[in-house]
Amino acid sequence: MSHGNEIPDQVRNDNGINLADYGWNSFYADAKNSSENSHLEHGRIVSVHKSKYEVVINSGIFSCEILGNLQFQKNPLDKPAVGDWVLLDEEAGTKLIVEILARKSLIKRQKKHDNFPKPIAANIDRGIVVQAIGPDFNIKRLERILIHIIDAGVEPMIIINKIDLADGELDDIKLAIKKLNYNIDILYTSYITGEGIDELAEKLTPGETVIFIGSSGVGKSSIINSMLGHAKQATREITDKTGKGKHTTTARRLILLDNAVLVIDTPGTREFGMHSDDNAAIKQSFDYIENVALGCQFGNCGHSNESGCAIRHALENGDIDTDNYKRYLVLQIESEQSAKQMRQAGKVSSKVHAGQPLRSARRGKSKPKKRK
Ligand code: GDP
Ligand code: ZN
Repeated sequence: MSHGNEIPDQVRNDNGINLADYGWNSFYADAKNSSENSHLEHGRIVSVHKSKYEVVINSGIFSCEILGNLQFQKNPLDKPAVGDWVLLDEEAGTKLIVEILARKSLIKRQKKHDNFPKPIAANIDRGIVVQAIGPDFNIKRLERILIHIIDAGVEPMIIINKIDLADGELDDIKLAIKKLNYNIDILYTSYITGEGIDELAEKLTPGETVIFIGSSGVGKSSIINSMLGHAKQATREITDKTGKGKHTTTARRLILLDNAVLVIDTPGTREFGMHSDDNAAIKQSFDYIENVALGCQFGNCGHSNESGCAIRHALENGDIDTDNYKRYLVLQIESEQSAKQMRQAGKVSSKVHAGQPLRSARRGKSKPKKRK
């Protein structure tokens, strides 16, 4: 899903916000009551961008900053995450996060070379692993994410999407999942035919916070949109303020759906440090690199010094792992060479050239997935 990661600095004053709609309940109220800051106002973080936090409170959604001692916590898990309930103070007209209330649950990630895990989202009630029919389906990865969700104290659910594309493999998939032997809800859905979507909406409870976890392209936004009924709200694309062009951003955001369910979207399974040595994981991070490349300002971007290069940006801020990127480049050169050989042998047109996504060269598909 793509969301702008900008935070409006001015107040969006939706009068009459009921924080219970955002999941406030006695668990968090108790946590607040036992705090020495219990006189302060509470709110929930709906998005994080660097050191700016968008927080929903009774009187609206505000852009807030964070008190120094929280910002400089050594352990990233001690910093606020999307979904956190926080206490706010005010200083010179700026709202400041001074405390994170006790968390009900925490989903985190640890990349291969990170010393500490980082928080992904807090206070999640239900984690839905989404995989799609086709090459995305991977039972080992599915199980790893499930374990992660269960460890985090979150109720798991599985969605196998794009069943309209199934070509006889559905029975095998069902069997493989059954063999995992987890006693959890499994839904088979199709955004195209609508199958399973109503059932999903029925299973989710108003007021609960749900996170959809899966690679990009499996249909998370589509599913959320069909539940929402307002396609534009959940997947609007925002042009970067700097005018550097459209970015497929990696911001996570808490969204309140019309059916009163709260959803946190995530950019992809790379969040879970899936850079293991199995091929599926590698393919996964390559898919991610290709998706990031779609955010480059120029279609023929060489990802070196071009302005508006999303790849360079992602490498700089650690969203793309440098080692993975190198492997990606190597494979791309190899595929370019083999394409050249094939061209010379007169087998394919000269369409495939360096700088095109690996996918095009490898699988003969000409267009990368369109991002919404
Ligand atoms: P996300 O990255 O996980 O949020 O995936 P999207 O919702 O953006 O979907 C990626 C692509 O898959 C889009 O072109 C969707 O139209 C398509 N898609 C989503 N769900 C289905 C489905 O059930 N069946 C088929 N055939 N395509 C789907
Ligand atoms: Zn680029």
